[in-house]
Amino acid sequence: MKKQLNLLLASGVLALLVSCAGPTSGNSEFNNDPPENYSVPGFIIDAHIHYRATDEWEKSFIETFTEYNAMGCVMVRMPDLERGIAFAKANPDRVIPYAMINIDSVTVLDDIRKAHAMGYKGLGELFAKNEWNYDDPKYDPVWALAEELKMPIGPHTGNLGSGEMARLRPSFLATIAVKFPNLYIVGGHFGNPWYAEAGEAARRNKNLYFDISGSSLIKKEGNPGIWREYLWWTPYVGKTTAHMPKDLVPAFEKLVFATDEGPDAFKENIRRFNRLLDANNVSAESREKIYGLTMAKIHGITPPAPKK
Ligand SMILES: [Zn+2]
Repeated sequence: MKKQLNLLLASGVLALLVSCAGPTSGNSEFNNDPPENYSVPGFIIDAHIHYRATDEWEKSFIETFTEYNAMGCVMVRMPDLERGIAFAKANPDRVIPYAMINIDSVTVLDDIRKAHAMGYKGLGELFAKNEWNYDDPKYDPVWALAEELKMPIGPHTGNLGSGEMARLRPSFLATIAVKFPNLYIVGGHFGNPWYAEAGEAARRNKNLYFDISGSSLIKKEGNPGIWREYLWWTPYVGKTTAHMPKDLVPAFEKLVFATDEGPDAFKENIRRFNRLLDANNVSAESREKIYGLTMAKIHGITPPAPKK
């Protein structure tokens, strides 16, 4: 009897161990531990990369982005606006210049108009770092002007290098997306760690996207299938189903590729991002959008022919 019980317990433990191995075991349609993959579509837009006003950085950026037939939404600090726009104008097929306006500055509206007149195409990276959440009505004139000037915004979401988090939650971007339906919003970092919130905000708002740069893909390196818990609705696209917006797009198409690191880390960012795409069986058609065509559409850019 005791022996039988032990056997029963042992098999129970075994069954538990097998079930803990997760969806990679058995005949799952998903592959939660894909091999390293560096392949990319023929055209890329990095939605979030920070400019450094040095010859060295500019050289490295151009070399890398030319190699990948890529463009970058290059985020330029206010003191570097002149040099940044000169760099952008010298490399129009590589640089989409963004101005890092301070949304709490008393001159913010003038700053936006000035950046727009200089040739800046977007506003970011933005930070709600003081006493107000992104969707505080205090900021409405900023979002209204960005919408009027057709300048997409790139607000940081989730935890910040400074340690602040709470005012940068992704749900605040949903409020802005509803109030300003013609403003494109590409939140940084997929709301880390509020991924579920970011996913739902994006599902319900067609003008809201996220990049997933930063520490998230590093944190979830061992569990890349987890992203389909937050980006879950692809099977419902095109079906008349309750609780789904009419213009639903495949869930992973609410993401855009971004590095938020130097050009030397471009290749590693591709590996990390492909791990997410591969583990979640994201289609080739979606990958083209995620890697570049979505941002191209947002900015009215015709993608260049792939390099030979
Ligand atoms: Zn950021």
